[in-house]
Order: sequence, then C-alpha cells, then structure tokens
Amino acid sequence: MQIQTLNALGTDKTVPRQPVLFVGHGSPMNAIEHNRFSDMWETVGRNLEKPRAIVCISAHWETAGTRVTAMDKPRTIHDFGGFPRALFEAEYPAPGSAHIAAELQRESSHYRIDSDMHWGLDHGTWSVLMRMFPEADIPVLQLSMDTRMGADGHYALATELKKLRERGILFIGSGNLVHNLGAVNWADTAWSWAEEFDTICAEYIGERQDQKLIQYDHLGTAAKLSIPTPEHYYPLLYALGLTEKTETIQWFNNKVTLGSISMRSFIAGS
Ligand code: ZN
Repeated sequence: MQIQTLNALGTDKTVPRQPVLFVGHGSPMNAIEHNRFSDMWETVGRNLEKPRAIVCISAHWETAGTRVTAMDKPRTIHDFGGFPRALFEAEYPAPGSAHIAAELQRESSHYRIDSDMHWGLDHGTWSVLMRMFPEADIPVLQLSMDTRMGADGHYALATELKKLRERGILFIGSGNLVHNLGAVNWADTAWSWAEEFDTICAEYIGERQDQKLIQYDHLGTAAKLSIPTPEHYYPLLYALGLTEKTETIQWFNNKVTLGSISMRSFIAGS
C-alpha cells in the first residue's frame, strides 16, 4: 500500500507500508567482515523499499522502563571488547528523529515510553544497518526493552506500535533465537540442543504459535540452554507482536554457528 507522508526531513515522499525484520546479529565482526550472513544483509537491504525511518529493538539496550532515542545525532556505541581496532573505528552516522520518537510515544497508549538523549546506536543496531543500509541516510531510533517487563509485556507493547508500519517505519528486532555465550565454540558448528531449539522456533514462527513462543520457558531443556538470559530472544517477540498472523514469513540466514548462536532471521510482510 502506498501512502502519502511527510518524511522526517520535511519533504513530501511516498513511502510504502513496511515489513518487520527479525535479524540474528551474532558477532559484531559481521559489521565489517564479508561472510555469508553479512553478505545476505546487503542483499536484503537492496531488496527493501527505502523506509521513512528505522526503529530497532536491540538485545543490547535494556532499561528500567521503556525508552526511545530522541536525539538528532545518535552516537555509534562500541559496546564490546576484544575485537580488532577496525571495529572500534567503525561509525554509523545515521540521523535520529525526535519527531519519530514522539510518534512512537503517541501510538503507545498502555505503555509509557520515555525520551532518551543519552544512548545512541549499539552494535545490535549498527552492525546490521551498516551492511543493510550502508548510506546511513535514514533516521534510526532505538527502542529499549524494559527489564521489569516479562515476555507477554514485550509482545503486547509491540502490538500497539503496529500501525506505524503504515507510516513508513521499518521495525527491526535484533537478537538471536539461540544465544549462549558460555557454550560458544569458535568454529562453524552447532550443539544438538541449539539445532533443536532453532528448529522449534522455526516451526512455531512459521505456524504463528505466538503464545508458545511467549511461554518459551515451557519449551524444555533445549530452550533453557538456548536462552540462558532472555535479552537476545525478546526482540523476536517484538517482531511477532508488530505483525499480523496472516503475513508471510521469508527466512534468511537459517543457520546455527559458533556452537550456540542461531543466525536465523526473517522478513514478515512485504
Ligand atoms: Zn548481541
């Protein structure tokens, strides 16, 4: 559907209804390294219609209460250690938008979203966008995950923001379905429980059994090993909450690597 909007830079532009992405981000090195995952991010980006703005829910921003970045120039946050200097020198100079932040705040009627002027773009956001939208000319905001909220709360909050897709906003949940750093094996390999939970997720996402995915703590040993802490899993619940159950799912990067990291990703709607 094409709609007429006023974009964040104040010029008239026709921006189509946006899909929702869930992206398994994996190692920060994907930002600067050419491999099968980051090459696919480039392909996905080339095939997306340019959005009016991007709102990313990253595994790496958890706060007490939900916040949205509202600064004009969000900084590139290098929130990792032990990587090459080239990664610390990487910058993603996309603009922010107080205007879009206010739209999110207006749309969320049951959940309070506070403006944030301190965060910026962490690697859950910029490592992906640097490859997907290398020009860095689209306003990018981050929405934090409230540490006081459970899985059902994150899902419910996401459903309230769904309408913003009609106004040209691309939402990206950036995490990993399987993410157990304690079990990482620095090789292209997968533990059997990681493969098992990745397959369970693919099945339930494909069937849109959202309640089962919300109640992930009832999914057995493979789920417990795959989600030792939920911050990399919760972005999935945002991606699901933002979509209709009838929307198509297109998979990409369907692979468990490093023993315990699932890179499985999807585009919902188109
Ligand atoms: Zn991460």
